[in-house]
Amino acid sequence: MTIRYNVQLQPYNSFRTRASARIFCEPQTVEELSETIRTFSEEKKLVLGAGFNLFFTRDFDGVVIKPGMRGITTLAENDEYIDIEAGAAEEWDQFVGFSVSHGYSGLENLSLIPSSVGASPIQNIGAYGTEVKDTIIRVKAVNICSGEYHEFTNEECAFGYRDSIFKRTGRYVITSVVYRLSKTFAYKEKYVDLSRELEGIDVPTLSQVRDAIIRIRTRKLPDFNLLPNAGSFFKNPVLTMDEKEALRKILPDAPFYNAGDNGFKTSAAFLIEKAGYKGRRKGMVGTYERHALIIVNYGTENGQEIADFMEEIQQEVKRQFGILLEPEVWIF
Ligand SMILES: Cc1cc2nc3c(=O)[nH]c(=O)nc-3n(C[C@H](O)[C@H](O)[C@H](O)COP(=O)(O)OP(=O)(O)OC[C@H]3O[C@@H](n4cnc5c(N)ncnc54)[C@H](O)[C@@H]3O)c2cc1C
Repeated sequence: MTIRYNVQLQPYNSFRTRASARIFCEPQTVEELSETIRTFSEEKKLVLGAGFNLFFTRDFDGVVIKPGMRGITTLAENDEYIDIEAGAAEEWDQFVGFSVSHGYSGLENLSLIPSSVGASPIQNIGAYGTEVKDTIIRVKAVNICSGEYHEFTNEECAFGYRDSIFKRTGRYVITSVVYRLSKTFAYKEKYVDLSRELEGIDVPTLSQVRDAIIRIRTRKLPDFNLLPNAGSFFKNPVLTMDEKEALRKILPDAPFYNAGDNGFKTSAAFLIEKAGYKGRRKGMVGTYERHALIIVNYGTENGQEIADFMEEIQQEVKRQFGILLEPEVWIF
C-alpha cells in the first residue's frame, strides 16, 4: 500500500474546500488497514468515504484513511432472500442499481444517494420512508485505536435516525457491509412525492420505483458537480411536547411528525425558510433556491466561510424559534 504525504483533499469532498492531509492512505484489505492503524498508532486519524457528507476548514495534521475494500459477494440465499456483502469502497448507487437489476428489493428507495457502501451505516442513510438499517444484517469493521477486527450484528449497530454506534463513537473503520435483500417486491405507498411520480402505473415494478426516485432526486437536488454541496446540511429537529407547543404558538403552520418515544420531528427546511434563509446568499455561500436545507458553495475554497454561514443560520433560527439546528454534515 502506498502512503502519500501532504495530499490535497479538495477532490475528496463534495463541497470542494481546500485542505491538505499530512498523511494519506487507501488500504485495500482488512489486514492492510489494521497494519496502517498500528503503524500510525500515535497519529490523529480521519476516515474518508466518498466525501459527500463532510468538508474541511483546515489542514489535517494526521492520517486520512480512505478504505479501499471492493467487491460484491453473495454469502447466502434461499427462495425469499439473499445476503450480499459489499466492500466499503463500492459506490452506493451502483450497488443499488446492481441489486435492483437482479430483482432484489429493499434498497430501491435509497437510489441516487451519493455515498460509499462503507458510509451507509454511519448515519443510517435514509430517503423516501426507508432507512438502510432495515436491510443491514452485519457490519464488518476495524477498531481505529487497536487495529482489531470486529463484526457487528444489526442490533449492535444501535441504529437511530441518522445515527448509529459508528457515528456516536467514531471508533471503527467499516470495511464491508452485509445486506439482506428480498427476492420479492410489492410496492407500498410510503411517500406522497413518490406515489405522485408513479401515478398511472397500477402495479409499479422495482425498476419503475428506482427510476421514479432518480427522476425526483435529479429534479429536486442541486448537481454537486456544478454547485458543490453536501445534501441536507441540518438534521430535522426532534422536539419534546413542550417544545412542540411553544413552536406551534410562533409558527402555527409548522409540520410535525411522530418520532416514536423520542417526541416530534419538525422540518429544518421549514424553519430555515421561515427565518428568511431560503435561497439567501452571503459571499460565495448560500442556501439552494429550491431547497432551504441545502447549503451550496458558489465558489469559495475556504471551508470556514461555509461554517460561518452555517452558524449564522443556527443563530437566526434559534433567535426566532428557540430551536438549535444540529448539522448533519461533518466539519473537519
Ligand atoms: C446531493 C446530496 C444528497 C444527499 N441525500 C441524502 C439522503 O437522501 N439521505 C441521506 O441519508 N444522506 C444524504 N446525503 C448525505 C450523504 O449522501 C451520506 O451521508 C453518505 O452516506 C455519505 O457517504 P460518503 O461515503 O460520502 O461519506 P463521507 O462524507 O466520506 O463520510 C461521512 C462520515 O462517515 C465517516 N465514514 C465514511 N466512510 C467510513 C467508513 N468506511 N468507516 C467509518 N467511517 C466512515 C466519515 O469519517 C464521516 O464522519 C446527501 C448528500 C448529497 C451531496
